[in-house]
Amino acid sequence: MIGILIQKPSQVPTFRTDRDGLAFEELCDEIEHADILADKASKQEAQQEEFAAAKFDADKDKSQFRQYETASDRVKNFYLEQHAKQTVAYNLKARNDFHSKTRAEMSVWEAMERLNTLIDESDPDTDLSQIEHLLQSAEAMRRDGCPRWMQLTGLIHDLGKLLFFFDAQGQWDVVGDTFPVGCAFDDKIIYGNKSFSANPDVNDPIYSTENGIYTPGCGLENIMISWGHDEYLYHVVKDQSSLPDEALAMIRYHSFYPWHQQGAYRQFMNEHDERMLKAVKWFNPYDLYSKSDEKPCAEKLKVSLTSHCCCNY
Ligand code: FE
Ligand code: FE
Repeated sequence: MIGILIQKPSQVPTFRTDRDGLAFEELCDEIEHADILADKASKQEAQQEEFAAAKFDADKDKSQFRQYETASDRVKNFYLEQHAKQTVAYNLKARNDFHSKTRAEMSVWEAMERLNTLIDESDPDTDLSQIEHLLQSAEAMRRDGCPRWMQLTGLIHDLGKLLFFFDAQGQWDVVGDTFPVGCAFDDKIIYGNKSFSANPDVNDPIYSTENGIYTPGCGLENIMISWGHDEYLYHVVKDQSSLPDEALAMIRYHSFYPWHQQGAYRQFMNEHDERMLKAVKWFNPYDLYSKSDEKPCAEKLKVSLTSHCCCNY
């Protein structure tokens, strides 16, 4: 069992029924689409750089690689809000809330069904589904012979999205690419550092410096990553599972694209993080690209999963 939901002590857990699950689901899909475009772009760019290294005079047009800039207005507006509101102060508050509130227990499968219901309820005709994404990621890993702990990681990696229906301020503190707070916002973050102009931390004399409140080599474990479903689930799972460090890194950093895809913030890494980076890169294609696979049958898998996994929770 994993304690996944936040509730104030002695309060019965209730979900926010005023939240628009369908809009949330659509935004998640569009954010993912932007990440896929950026991923393809960075691979093309790496290829071009290799080519340019061989032929130093090759002309590069980097603008063609930033296709995510053509993403929908919804994604752009989402990131403007996220970049304005993810501050050190908010991050400390979210962490404090996490540690000071108690959570209800439920099994992983119950959490998956709950997440799915909350999103599907807003539109019964939707064919988009969180549970399918989780199953597809895990199934693709299983097909490829990935270790069982990784299949489980694929299965649960987005369960932190339950936060949206409970304790979050909005979508901006649940989903989207993540980045550190407490140091300068890197230009490699989606839409670049100019999109942070409304964030008060850019005017802070310490937070606005390259290393901010951190020291180079301090290890990502000591960095405050913007608050969202990744960071939330990482804290849930860190204390309540026997998953290996690689799995915890896959969960914590899977939306940390500026780091694992774009190469930013590497100055904070220690030796351990070098291994974790490899793990996150291993995980990433299963998250981004398994959606095109055949749709899994949730009911069929539920039987085999619950019969195999019930003793683990
Ligand atoms: Fe995610
Ligand atoms: Fe995901």
